[in-house]
Amino acid sequence: MILSKIFGLLTAVTVARVCHAGLLTDTAVVANKKYDFVIVGGGTSGVIMATRITEISKHTVLLIEAGVAYEDIPVTLHAPALGVRSGSQQPWTWNYTVVPQIGMENRTFTYQMGHNLGGSSYVYGLYTRGTDQIFDKIAKISGDNGWSWKSLVPYFNKAEGFLKPPSGGEWGPNDYKLTDHGTQGPFNTQLPMYPNDLDPLVTKLVATEAEFSKWNNDLSSGKSLGIGTSQATITKAGTASNVASGYLTPAVLARKNLDIITGVRATKLTFKASKAGPVASGVQFTPSPDVNVTTVLANNEVILSAGAFNTPQLLQLSGIADKDFLKSLGIPVVLDSPNVGQNLRDHVAMPMQWEANATTTLDQLRDPTFLANQTSIWQQTGKGILTAAVANHLGFFRVHPNASIFDSQNPDPSIGSDCSHFEMLFRSFITPSPATGFFTSMGIAFTSVASVGNVLINTTDPFASPLIDPKFLTSEVDIRIGREAIKTARRAYSSPVFDGFVVKEYGPNPNAMTDPEIEEMIRHSGTTFFHALGTAQLAPFHADVKAGVVNPDLTVKGVKGLRIVDASVIPVLPDAHPLAAVLAFAERGADLVKAAWR
Ligand SMILES: Cc1cc2nc3c(=O)[nH]c(=O)nc-3n(C[C@H](O)[C@H](O)[C@H](O)COP(=O)(O)OP(=O)(O)OC[C@H]3O[C@@H](n4cnc5c(N)ncnc54)[C@H](O)[C@@H]3O)c2cc1C
Repeated sequence: MILSKIFGLLTAVTVARVCHAGLLTDTAVVANKKYDFVIVGGGTSGVIMATRITEISKHTVLLIEAGVAYEDIPVTLHAPALGVRSGSQQPWTWNYTVVPQIGMENRTFTYQMGHNLGGSSYVYGLYTRGTDQIFDKIAKISGDNGWSWKSLVPYFNKAEGFLKPPSGGEWGPNDYKLTDHGTQGPFNTQLPMYPNDLDPLVTKLVATEAEFSKWNNDLSSGKSLGIGTSQATITKAGTASNVASGYLTPAVLARKNLDIITGVRATKLTFKASKAGPVASGVQFTPSPDVNVTTVLANNEVILSAGAFNTPQLLQLSGIADKDFLKSLGIPVVLDSPNVGQNLRDHVAMPMQWEANATTTLDQLRDPTFLANQTSIWQQTGKGILTAAVANHLGFFRVHPNASIFDSQNPDPSIGSDCSHFEMLFRSFITPSPATGFFTSMGIAFTSVASVGNVLINTTDPFASPLIDPKFLTSEVDIRIGREAIKTARRAYSSPVFDGFVVKEYGPNPNAMTDPEIEEMIRHSGTTFFHALGTAQLAPFHADVKAGVVNPDLTVKGVKGLRIVDASVIPVLPDAHPLAAVLAFAERGADLVKAAWR
C-alpha cells in the first residue's frame, strides 16, 4: 500500500509547531465563560464561521475543535501528493468505520474525516463546484432562492483564491476561465502544478474519440459535463490548501474576540426552557472521557459545525432526534425531530486500474531514495512530484443514451439533464499499490445515486462512534449506473490513443465482463468517495420538523439559539466533490448570522 508505506517513512519527520495567540488547549481558561457564539467543530465550516463572525468586533466567539491543531500535523503531510489521508489511525483523522454494507457483501471500511483544525478541508484535494441545477434544486427544496446557483456564485467566489497558472506553462486559455472563479478568497485552488504522462493522451482522447469529445474549459462554471483540467486545492507555496491556514491568518488569530480551543470534544448541548420552547444555552466539552465536562455558555447562539457524522451525533446525544429513538436510549427528549441523522448521501467510488508502460507515475514514490530527494525538493522549493494533484483531468458523464437503464421501477436519480451520472478521474497511480510496477487508474465516482443512509448513535457515550450506514448500492439503479461507468472507463482506455501507455487492465477484476460479473465486482470493490452530507437537511420555513431539521437560514427547527452550518444541512448531493459547496454554504451561513445579530 504505497501511501501507508510513504507515511511510515514520514512519521519521524519533524513536527512544525507554531504557537499562535488565540489557540488554547486548557479547558480552565474558558470554563464558565460566556461567549456570544459557541461554535462546535473547527473544520471547514466552523473555521469559516469563526473567522467571518469575528470580523464584527462586538461579537465574541469560542470555536471548539476535538482534533489536533493544524501545526500538530507532520509538516511533510502538507505536501499535496501525500496529505493526511496517507495515514489512518492517526490523531488527525476520526478513523470511523462504516457499518457492514449490505449492498457491498457486508463489508466495512474506514472513513477518515478530518480530526484537526481545518477538518476535512485538509484531507484531500480536488475543487469542483458541481452543476447549477443541483443548487437550483436546493433553492426549490428549501423555498429560499438564496441557495440557488446564481445566488451562491458570490459565496463560492468569496471563499476561493484561484491562482492563475503561469503563462508559458502546461495550461492555457482552454483549461480555465478566470471569470468562473474567485481570486481573492482565503482558500487557494489552482490547475495541477505537476504534469504527468496522461495529460497529452487525455487531450488526444478528446480530440479523436467522439464519445469523449466534449471538452469543458472550466469545470467550475456550473456546467460540469465533459472532460476538463482539474482544479486542485493547492496553495502558491505548493502545500495542500485548507481552511485553517487559509482563513486563520495571524491577524485573525490575534483577534481579541476569538478563542479557539483544540483537543476537546463537545459532548452535549445544554438548553433552557422558554415560552417559545427550548433555547440552546451552551455546550459541554471535555478532553477525554475520564475528565469532568466543562460548560461554556452562549449569549446568542450555539452553532454546530461538527460535520455530517458528528453534528447528528451531538444532536441525538443532546435530545434532538426522533422521540421514540431517543427514548429507546433513555435520552430525555428536548425536541422530536425525526430527520436528525437521516438522509445520509454519499458517492460510491470504484477504482479501476491498468498497468502502465511508464516510469514516471507516482508509483516512483515507493522508492525511499526518490521520496527523500523529492521531499527535500518540495521543502526547499514547494515544487516537484509531491505537488501532484489527485488527478490532472476529470470527466463528468451521463450514461450513454443507448444504455436504456432507467425505467419506472428504477428512475434516473440525477437532479437535471445537465447533471452527471458518474465521474472519471484520470490518475497516474493506483492505491493500494503493489510492491513493483507502474500503473494508471480511473477513479470512478457514481455522482448521481439513489441510495440513502443514516447516522445513528447506539449509546449515550459521546466518545463512542455513531453507527454510520450510507446504505451504499442498496438501490438497483446505482448498480446500473456503476456498470455503465465501468464500461465507459474501459472504452476510454481501450482507445488507440492509449496504445503504448496502457498495457493491460490490472484490477480490481479484469475478467468481469458480463453485467452480473461487473455488478459483483462493484459490490466487492466499491467504497466511499468521502462525500457524506445531508444528515440535518434544509426544509422551508413553513414546513415542520417532519420535512427537515433546519430552516433556510440554517436555524434548527423547533428550538431557539441553535444553528447548523456544515455539510449536514445540504439536502442534495452535488454531482461533484462537495468541498466547494460546503465552503459556499458556510460563507453564506456566516452572512445569515451577521444579519440576524446586526
Ligand atoms: C478523506 C476525505 C477526502 C475528501 N476529498 C475531497 C476532495 O478531494 N474534494 C472535495 O470537494 N471534497 C472532499 N471531501 C469532502 C469535504 O472535505 C467535506 O465535504 C467537507 O470538508 C465537510 O466540511 P464540514 O465543515 O461539514 O466538516 P469537517 O470539515 O469534517 O469539520 C468538522 C469538524 O468538527 C470537528 N468535530 C466533530 N465532532 C466534534 C465534537 N463533538 N466536538 C468538537 N469538534 C468536533 C471535527 O474534528 C472536524 O474538524 C473529502 C472528505 C474526506 C473525509
